Amino acid sequence: MSDARDAAPAVAGPRLLTGSPIAAEIRAGLTEDFAAFKERWGRAPTLAIVLVGADAPSAVYLQQILRTCAKVGVEGRLVEIGAEVTPDAVCEEIERLNADPEVAGIIVQMPLPAHIPLRTVIDSIDPAKDIDGIHPRNAGLLSLGYDGFLPATAQASVEILKRSGIEIAGKRVVVIGRSNVVGKPAALLLMREHGTVTVLHSKTRDLGHHTRDAEILIVAAGRPGLVTGEMLSPGVVVVDVGINVVPDGQGGEKLVGDVDFESARDVVGAITPVPGGVGPLTNALLLSHLLRAATDQAERAARQTAAEVAK
Ligand code: NAP
Repeated sequence: MSDARDAAPAVAGPRLLTGSPIAAEIRAGLTEDFAAFKERWGRAPTLAIVLVGADAPSAVYLQQILRTCAKVGVEGRLVEIGAEVTPDAVCEEIERLNADPEVAGIIVQMPLPAHIPLRTVIDSIDPAKDIDGIHPRNAGLLSLGYDGFLPATAQASVEILKRSGIEIAGKRVVVIGRSNVVGKPAALLLMREHGTVTVLHSKTRDLGHHTRDAEILIVAAGRPGLVTGEMLSPGVVVVDVGINVVPDGQGGEKLVGDVDFESARDVVGAITPVPGGVGPLTNALLLSHLLRAATDQAERAARQTAAEVAK
């Protein structure tokens, strides 16, 4: 005799908000736009990636972005600087890139070696080439609600909601993390989308008290398993920005987010997977910023040339 459970349909899992199809769509548009740029200006724009000191996780990420550059028709230029370098020498290298008309965008791979002050390096990037929005000018524009370059990961965490048709306006949105590159700009962008935003951090007491109130939860703490199912309310939409390398239990390693997927999956309404959620979208958005930077710079240079010819 068959058990009633045998006949029951498989329990559907949560809705997975995958970034890859959205990223592929953006990349397809960018491939056409970069081809048109090359046609108009006679060259492909260059993205310079500054890497100070060798760092294995960075190397994996850099190969990924260089591959994406190649896919859409952008010149990727890896600028490798030895870890023993002085802060002045790093800034001089960035100033050379600022002055190079072929370089449309500059990103500096984090973390920097401990003796290189982050603030000094960030300040030396030309805001017009700061396509990951880390310069104080772009951060200021974001906080004032004006157009500037947005930090791509923060933008991706909001964009994945918007492009998945999830309404933000009026919702109780909780962000875990307040870093300048992810948590803080994500909170500002979510406010711009009219969410009612609460920001949690390492000194927040009783994280679960706040997360259980969330209708949308963005997690960007860099702590695997920080958020478990019992900290969530049924139906919550979760964007897991965390990328953590942990042992896979078979002698190897695997990537996980900050949310304990197994305990969360039966509670959430929708969730971004790790890998394959926010990550793929980040690179695609970064290259869309590069297109905008390259076009602005090329048009400005053409106007200057025309003005000089007219003199
Ligand atoms: P970060 O600079 O280390 O900032 C982490 C933030 O989380 C801080 O604000 C910290 O609070 C908070 N935090 C840490 N432990 C906490 C805890 N137990 N409870 C509550 N809050 C806690 O990291 P990040 O650069 O923002 O990156 C965050 C995560 O996103 C990392 O896993 C990173 O790998 C990932 N990431 C992903 C992408 C992507 O494309 N998907 C890109 C960049 C980064 P305090 O401010 O109090 O220290």
